[in-house]
Amino acid sequence: MEPVRVHITTYGCQMNRLDAELVAERLRASGARIVDEPADAGVLLFVTCSVRAHAEDRVFSNIGALKTRKRREPDLVIGLLGCMAQQYGDRLRSRAPLVDIVCAPGRLAELPDLIEAARTSRTRPVVALDPPRDAPGAPCGPTAGAEAFAAADAALDEVEIHRPLGGPSPGHAFVTVMRGCDNFCAYCVVPNVRGPERSRPPGVIVEEVRRLVGQGARQITLLGQAVNKYAGREGGRTWDLADLIETVAETPNLARLAFITSHPRAMTERLAAVFRNVPAVCPYLHMPAQSGSDAVLARMKRGYTAAEYADRVAMVRAARPHVAVASDFIVGFPGETEEDFEATMDLVRRMRFSQAFVFKYSPRPGTFAAEHYEDDVPLADKRRRNQVLLDLMQQVAGEDNRRFVGRTVTIFVEGPSPHPNLHPEKGTGEKGTGSFSGPMEKVPGSFSRRTEKLPAEKVPGSFSGRMEKGTGSFSGRMEKVPVPFSGPAAGWPQLRGRTPGNRIVVFDGPTALAGTEVDVEVTASSPLTLFARLPETT
Ligand code: SF4
Repeated sequence: MEPVRVHITTYGCQMNRLDAELVAERLRASGARIVDEPADAGVLLFVTCSVRAHAEDRVFSNIGALKTRKRREPDLVIGLLGCMAQQYGDRLRSRAPLVDIVCAPGRLAELPDLIEAARTSRTRPVVALDPPRDAPGAPCGPTAGAEAFAAADAALDEVEIHRPLGGPSPGHAFVTVMRGCDNFCAYCVVPNVRGPERSRPPGVIVEEVRRLVGQGARQITLLGQAVNKYAGREGGRTWDLADLIETVAETPNLARLAFITSHPRAMTERLAAVFRNVPAVCPYLHMPAQSGSDAVLARMKRGYTAAEYADRVAMVRAARPHVAVASDFIVGFPGETEEDFEATMDLVRRMRFSQAFVFKYSPRPGTFAAEHYEDDVPLADKRRRNQVLLDLMQQVAGEDNRRFVGRTVTIFVEGPSPHPNLHPEKGTGEKGTGSFSGPMEKVPGSFSRRTEKLPAEKVPGSFSGRMEKGTGSFSGRMEKVPVPFSGPAAGWPQLRGRTPGNRIVVFDGPTALAGTEVDVEVTASSPLTLFARLPETT
């Protein structure tokens, strides 16, 4: 029988990217085929994000655009998965009538059955939701209700533990350390849609990391919504994130270990010390401040002041100077005045963030802020503050990036640059899309959507392992490229890598470097990118 052909579109954070990976693996194991192009698929799955209205609007719009195709192909199955599924539940029947499957984050392991049900049932959509946090009889308090997720978590663990190495880029894998969130920040739907905090047992995580590294992963990123609240139970004691990191870092051949996202309130001296004591830990901390105003932070229910946030950053940088700190900010939160916004600008200047993700506030249904605060900052002010803050971030990041020019940095190569014509003298260098010319030859052993479009090139070095065509991923072990380079070669594509501090570096090189660490010389910089070249000999 022809395998079911499935296409997956992913929105949102790293958790969603890992969810999509697990969905793909679960479906492959059940005999389905994951395809690159929606037009080739009979099942279209959307792994969705509910954190911002804009992200939801894009999903509804993209599903709405399938109306004509759905009329032409009545057997086409459309699945809406993840946070929006839990957020909207049954209401999707009226809000998105084309949807055939509604599947919450905790139920993703059931997708083969849900797809089968959607294909054979007359009753659509097929709905699989997580238990609501406020269900009658649900216990209250921290991690309350976690037991209701135990079966679903076990099913997801089973998929995650046995998946082959795929991940965000060659040689890099995400690993879930905890699910859910108990923080209930006033603006955020995550505690409602992903349920209470549940930490995976440390032994399971350590084993999963060992297996992924055994398959060729060199970089592991531990994931959790507030990852530094990790509290895994094993051997009659509770492990915190520092315990877990120290043990995971002992995995032979693991070069880089990162963890995201940290909550400022849960940053401890013990965790700060891993930046100093554990060489594999990347000097990178994603710890959202959200605002620099104490009044706004209190209304957001973040549980710290700007001074306390600055103390946490100082504590980390005392343990290891130059840790790159990235933050998220929300501008135009209810009641935010110009003085409040100026306090945020001041925090950015003082903390010298390496990156900041800036969002305009939009009320999310079911959150404390949506129910108790008036969305009273005019859109024009939100837009202006958004732009002013981004401009300041560009200035700060641009100044910091200039420090790298002339230095040699070790980068982890992700693969071809998504914007392959970045150049420091072409505008900001970040917006180029470029185009490919030259023969469209397949590069032996580098099957992926991106690399197939690259000009033909010679690939020095080699790797072994199984390469899957048409999925954009591979499994198997990537070997460090063994041959010396003698400088840039004509026809090399632009590759993208990252410094240990997560700064983006682009350089011309052979795609076989994907998944390896190499030293490059930084020749120029822009606020978002370092431009580099391979040294004369590597
Ligand atoms: S820590 Fe706050 S912002 Fe982050 S997921 Fe939890 S509730 Fe949302």
